[in-house]
Amino acid sequence: MTDVLRHGVAQAAKEPPARHHHHEPISERAPHPVAIRVTDVSKRFTGKRSATTALDDVSFDIGSGEFVSLIGPSGCGKSTLLRLVAGLMAPSGGELTINGITPREARRQRQFGIVFQSPVLFDWRTVEDNIGLPLQVFRTPKAEIRSRVRELTETVGLSDFLGHYPWQLSGGMQQRAAIARALSFRPPFLLMDEPFGALDMITRDRMGTELLRIWAATPGTTVMFITHSISEAVLLSDRVVVMSARPGRVVETVNIDLPRPRTESVRESTEFFEYDTLLRRLLMEAEALSDGG
Ligand code: ADP
Ligand code: MG
Repeated sequence: MTDVLRHGVAQAAKEPPARHHHHEPISERAPHPVAIRVTDVSKRFTGKRSATTALDDVSFDIGSGEFVSLIGPSGCGKSTLLRLVAGLMAPSGGELTINGITPREARRQRQFGIVFQSPVLFDWRTVEDNIGLPLQVFRTPKAEIRSRVRELTETVGLSDFLGHYPWQLSGGMQQRAAIARALSFRPPFLLMDEPFGALDMITRDRMGTELLRIWAATPGTTVMFITHSISEAVLLSDRVVVMSARPGRVVETVNIDLPRPRTESVRESTEFFEYDTLLRRLLMEAEALSDGG
């Protein structure tokens, strides 16, 4: 063994268990075959007088059935990335594939359920009719819609509110309805853009564990979750992709090796605190790296 190697081994032995900086490609992390692949993606918005580089050379994978969070400062291109994955717009450079097909094609096949920060429910429709809306649009038979909506409201805990109108619900309940609606047509992908960002802190914490329960009740669903809450990302995710300030780049991917099912009490564990601290540090480093433009 050369000195250099021995030194390397000695260094490695001093480091904490290999749970922090995982760089290995996803193909080596069976049983999660790649579902969402983002390769060297950039996105530039050009206006009449100005141009903004929202994303620069972004690459990451999300495995089938994985829960992956994207975290980064406001304006770093998280929503842009979600819209690219959802096939709602095209990248300026690079490539995105959804199980080998284009996002646009996957969207046409109704593979994405999307939940935004604001639940965008229709005020003149009951909870039942809001949740069933996509199925109505897809001309699903009425009886089938009825039973599916009942099943979903059970899952998200809104069974007693089928006949209520959105304005009669709390913010957390409205977001549950939006999640149920996104899941109504059984999409393999759930894309969530800061879904709990508008909720008060206590409701937000509760919705996190609720989402984990809902996710467990829809096995195989792949989740791409955008947040700027570090603790939310740790609580929910299999992996967290950390992005730098604009132009958004991936600075690090962190595996969250906390056991599942996770409950509120996991927040009190030392490991949770360690992940929280690590992500906080990475985000601060990412901010320092940014060119401020
Ligand atoms: P985040 O969700 O991380 O806060 P966004 O993806 O919303 O960030 O925005 C990233 C950057 O791209 C911002 O500077 C924003 O102003 C810009 N941007 C986003 N969408 C558009 C658009 N349609 N036209 C022009 N600029 C945009
Ligand atoms: Mg956003």
